[in-house]
Amino acid sequence: MTAPRIAYFSMEMALEPGMPTYSGGLGVLAGDTIRAAADMRVPMVGVTLLHRKGYFFQQLSSGGWQTESEVHWAINDFAQLIPTRVSINLEGKQVQLAAWEYEAKDHGHYTVPVFLLDADVEGNAPEHRGLTDRLYGGDDRYRLCQEAILGIGGVRLLRALGFDSVERFHMNEGHSSLLAVELLHEQLRARGDSDLREAVKVVRKQCVFTTHTPVAAGHDQFSCELVQRVLGEEGNHHGLSAFGCAGDLNMTELALNASHYVNGVAKRHGEVSRQMFPAYSIDWITNGVHAPTWVSPPVTRLFDHYVPGWQADPHGLRSALTIPKQELWHAHREAKWSLLEWVNRESNAGMDVDYLTIGFARRATAYKRPGLLLTQLERLQDVLKPERPLQLVFAGKAHPRDEEGKHLIEDVFKAKDRFSCIQLAYLANYDMRLAKTLVGGVDVWLNTPHPPFEASGTSGMKAAMNGIPSLSVLDGWWMEGCIENVTGWAIGGLNESEEQILDHGARLREKLEQVVLPTFYDQQDAFIDVMRSTIAFNGSFFNTHRMLQQYVAKAYFG
Ligand SMILES: *Cc1c(COP(=O)(O)O)cnc(C)c1O
Repeated sequence: MTAPRIAYFSMEMALEPGMPTYSGGLGVLAGDTIRAAADMRVPMVGVTLLHRKGYFFQQLSSGGWQTESEVHWAINDFAQLIPTRVSINLEGKQVQLAAWEYEAKDHGHYTVPVFLLDADVEGNAPEHRGLTDRLYGGDDRYRLCQEAILGIGGVRLLRALGFDSVERFHMNEGHSSLLAVELLHEQLRARGDSDLREAVKVVRKQCVFTTHTPVAAGHDQFSCELVQRVLGEEGNHHGLSAFGCAGDLNMTELALNASHYVNGVAKRHGEVSRQMFPAYSIDWITNGVHAPTWVSPPVTRLFDHYVPGWQADPHGLRSALTIPKQELWHAHREAKWSLLEWVNRESNAGMDVDYLTIGFARRATAYKRPGLLLTQLERLQDVLKPERPLQLVFAGKAHPRDEEGKHLIEDVFKAKDRFSCIQLAYLANYDMRLAKTLVGGVDVWLNTPHPPFEASGTSGMKAAMNGIPSLSVLDGWWMEGCIENVTGWAIGGLNESEEQILDHGARLREKLEQVVLPTFYDQQDAFIDVMRSTIAFNGSFFNTHRMLQQYVAKAYFG
């Protein structure tokens, strides 16, 4: 390990399928970023929380109702407890923090360490020992305590470990923005309290902020009274007010004020963020995915043969057009076979590898509109035939407190067995492992967000790596990734009215009837062409290697 120069802070990180330290896209992006840093030997260190009980384990009743239980996992199998301890004052009491070290390695020996903070330390008050148990669990007080541990505790840990070489602190979403308050205290201690303006300037040069949420309600906000009660001295004096955050604490605002570089996660999301926060200069760096993590084993073997070096440098996938079509098709069928085996074992849907299979997996929440396709099944079945059916595979968790999201899952269950020539399955407990099997195993990846609420989306990029085209509303990354009939298909158009957006169901059905179904069933050669160009255009670009190079050039050392 080279002395780290960049510290990457994230409330969640998908480091390995066996570690339940993430809930969805934000954590997967963080994990992919860490893996890419290891591959590229970017001197980075990661900081997150341990999440002893994970996000949650999803069970679905026979009627499709979601229930949640704690995740049990063997921390020792993945990470090592280190002897260093740091402390933070929360609610007027000292809280000792332990840390576990996870090592992300490249194929050789280069390591990016990730530290997972743990409040379950003997001697801590009972109400504090569980603070790093549950990701996105609990109330505002619980959340603020967690964010203080991540931001303030995280910086203290890095200093206690002697990582004085860190020059940039990257906040992946606003959860960790209290780190700026700790950095400011460091500066003030070093230069004497008088030099506040200069200290703020130094902190701003150290901080980088990536925003992910295009909805105002999605930004963490804490009342002034709660902040005072929880943080007391920790957030006190110059800390928050120096960053323009007196009164209620908005974590995004703090991050914006404390950072010299701010970006959204796709071109469109950059525009949306600039409209939300017109007082700030906000750039964009489109997300990517870590290629070797998401490509199925059969397609990996194919790439190893035809695109040697693609794992270390996925830009090489630009030359995917040299892969013989039938070989790509066979590799894809092998991946599809693995998926359908999983689907049939779990759901008894009896899906067939010869039939067009569409995947839809993401957090079950209203703006992602999992019901959009369901509204069209009635009419779709009229154009399907027994030898040209449609198979649909769904997955995704609803946040435990999102009743509406849970009903959306139930609606998919209700549609099962109602239609001839349409097979439907909803797989429980969507996680990294299932995601990998899904994105490589379906024929088409569907995405139907209500624009402009999809900041980026990354599952379609994972699919693209596997040669799976997207059928998607033009939002998030797809506005950059969609080349009609070349990398997939758009649902609807650009700059649409609300009325047009609400009519996306019909546009989706038309695209399926007129383009996707006939191409898949009647023009296999043309379908494989789309698969290949999806890899060449989108696999070669929407990867974390390209993304991290942009962060290095624009944000870290720009
Ligand atoms: C990639 C991934 C996501 C994010 O997918 P989106 O396209 O952003 O909705 C969520 N959950 C898991 C398990 C993933 O692997």
